[in-house]
Amino acid sequence: MAFRTSAPLKEEIAERINWLGLIGRTENDGVTRLLYSESWMEAQSAIKKKMEEMGLSARFDDVGNVFGRVEGTEERDRVILTGSHIDTVVDGGKYDGAFGVLAAMIAVSRLQQEYGAPKKTIETVALCEEEGSRFHLAFWGSGSITGRYQLSDASKVTDGQDVTLEDAMHQLGFGQGAYPLARREDIACFLETHIEQGQILEHEHLAWAPVSHIVGMKRMIIRLSGESNHAGTTPMAGRRDALYAASQMISDVVGHAKMQNNGLVATVGQISIQPNVGNVIPGACTFALDVRHHEYDVLHDFCTKELENFRLIAEKEAVALDIKTWLDDAPVKMDPVMTQRHVDLARKAGIPFKKMVSGAGHDSQIFGVYCPTAMMFVPSHDGISHSPKEFTKIEDLATGVRMLMKILHEMAY
Ligand SMILES: [Zn+2]
Repeated sequence: MAFRTSAPLKEEIAERINWLGLIGRTENDGVTRLLYSESWMEAQSAIKKKMEEMGLSARFDDVGNVFGRVEGTEERDRVILTGSHIDTVVDGGKYDGAFGVLAAMIAVSRLQQEYGAPKKTIETVALCEEEGSRFHLAFWGSGSITGRYQLSDASKVTDGQDVTLEDAMHQLGFGQGAYPLARREDIACFLETHIEQGQILEHEHLAWAPVSHIVGMKRMIIRLSGESNHAGTTPMAGRRDALYAASQMISDVVGHAKMQNNGLVATVGQISIQPNVGNVIPGACTFALDVRHHEYDVLHDFCTKELENFRLIAEKEAVALDIKTWLDDAPVKMDPVMTQRHVDLARKAGIPFKKMVSGAGHDSQIFGVYCPTAMMFVPSHDGISHSPKEFTKIEDLATGVRMLMKILHEMAY
């Protein structure tokens, strides 16, 4: 029989968030749990134990995802999966990922206490990795379940200390067949609750958001080469100033994005120039461009036009231009039928909500191309995330758990 808790929902959530936040706690009151580190292992083991205490039958898979299962009375071989990720960035917060894991555990155990066993099997999951903070590959947990990654990919990536992903796994006993394979064929759908990591819900005084899409993203490195020369003796005509050319490109691309008014965002967040000396014309400039939108055509057309404009500017300023697109991810649509049901449930419950697009990447985008997937946001105070200052009001966390309970109840009972 399920573990029974008499604690009110808000208290239970606060207690669990603080409990998990202590594992990998930093001196800034943040959390660092990098994939396959000591704190990560401690957290996943603690989650497994907690799932068992909460009445779920818990297990690891061979990459270190942790599942807690409640067997359905009628449908056993298809699984409703819900959860999020356990890893964090360096000095991250207590809510990103963690809340989705805990919300799933609390929702499922409370449903069991209230209504007994579900008709359909439900599993909660603490995915092993989403952030890509230790190894330059993200979504290792969800990607291993859905077949985006194979175990053999683990030998190809290393961390900053030259440790391969494979070695890091082996050190903890994963990746050698001691646990069931990560790859699953029995997932009927995936549901993820997550903090928004933006300010929209808070600014609009809303408590909850079903997510319609996760944005597509293009990320590029733009390199300009001109000619360094004396700032005093080189006339303005005939200069090949790489920074001056870059400044026109940046001004244009950001300005044009502002004029789009359709949710497209474009950011230049990194720039370097050479020689970076006050009295020398910059001979080289490199900057990073990040563009996102939830419709691939809009994203692609915008980038094509802007890069054409970059070419014209480079020609006019007589600088050589090199563009490298290193990330080109299509947007992922969440399941419209599930999302609409969630909208109806929120309306019925009188929850102030709006449908939103996620501007950040999540495990749901990996599941979204594999099985029907739904994602739900709760507000983030001041939109702060990946920081010890990450915070969501307990009332909003409780709304997130209550909505997940309603959704799971409708689907599985
Ligand atoms: Zn996250």
